[in-house]
Amino acid sequence: MGLISRLYFCSINRVYYFFLFLPAKKQLFMKKLGLVFIALLIVPELFAQNHRTQNIVVVTLDGFRWQELYRGADSALTNSKYTDTKADIRKKFWAETPEERRKLLMPFMWSTMANEGQLYGDRDLGNCDEVANQYHFSYPGYNEIFTGFPDVRVNSNNPVPNPNTSIFEYLDKQKGFESKVAVFASWEAFPAIFNVNRSGLKVNAGYTNFEDAKADDRLKYLNEMQHKAPHYLGDTRIDFMTYEFGKEYLKEYKPRVLYLAFDETDDMAHAGNYKMYLTQAHQEDAYLKELWEYIQSDPTYKNKTTLIITCDHGRGDTNIDAWRNHGAGVKNSEQTWFAVIGPDTPHDGIIKTQTITYHKQLAQTIAQLLGYDFKGSANHEVGDAISSVMIKDKPVLGK
Ligand SMILES: [Zn+2]
Repeated sequence: MGLISRLYFCSINRVYYFFLFLPAKKQLFMKKLGLVFIALLIVPELFAQNHRTQNIVVVTLDGFRWQELYRGADSALTNSKYTDTKADIRKKFWAETPEERRKLLMPFMWSTMANEGQLYGDRDLGNCDEVANQYHFSYPGYNEIFTGFPDVRVNSNNPVPNPNTSIFEYLDKQKGFESKVAVFASWEAFPAIFNVNRSGLKVNAGYTNFEDAKADDRLKYLNEMQHKAPHYLGDTRIDFMTYEFGKEYLKEYKPRVLYLAFDETDDMAHAGNYKMYLTQAHQEDAYLKELWEYIQSDPTYKNKTTLIITCDHGRGDTNIDAWRNHGAGVKNSEQTWFAVIGPDTPHDGIIKTQTITYHKQLAQTIAQLLGYDFKGSANHEVGDAISSVMIKDKPVLGK
């Protein structure tokens, strides 16, 4: 209990003796008044003090499966037509047990995240994480994560401005967060997903330049370099460039909320290139390591920042070809995962509880980590926060 609460309870005790001498009817009235008074005093304190997180960094790996996160490289696929240079891939990512294989594929996830954070969605242990939307592709997936609302109207990948408010739009309007929320994305649809015309959010996506008169030389150089880099995904920017922009922005501008949206895991899966799907996941794990090491080395962020890593949808797994695709007609592509690390999160590692979490719960989870109630102020349905992400011995908001 905080000092302010203790003081309130002390004065409430003194008031109570006076209260005993009142007539019964007045006692009832005073009792009701007292309950309202106590509620008014305590509720804002729960919101204000129930967190150490001051900053949030979110990273998504588009369409990256829980199967590879938890089991590492799949031998059925590394031995199939989907993997060329098989010996090379075996050398890099093959080992006898899933525990060894996943460590080879994503060493940061299976060291720092597994030791000091939480990993949800290991279905082999009975812990399930999934999207609540029925479509199982990107725009509905990102809409669900960031608005908390699996809206049936959001049913295509066309860059239609999102009718729903995101947690980022909400935070950007809170005191201390103004112009401190930024998005760097590979996929060019993100300005529509965050409805930049309405929200005014800073969203740098696809091969657009970072525009700011105060931009440092590195950001100016990245603007120049991204047009010379290979554009092998059309208008979708290569993740390497997205990461470099995001990292430099974090160092120079010190945002309180940063979102990096990577894309290549999905592109490589659709292309049927398992080698590059694994290689890209491995590369993004290295970006995450570097990012977290920077966060924990900078006094602005150290021990005050929560990192959330997730994906927008799963992929199929029922036959040898199913991994390439996802969507309403692809069985099991609703199955996803997420990972979290930060000053409010218990060091549970892999979550083994027989529970199910949904991505529609992540928006309110982000809000609660920062001490806000997005659900209470959004003009649409929002999933409840995932309470196990917060340390249990502190008071948590009710569902
Ligand atoms: Zn896809």
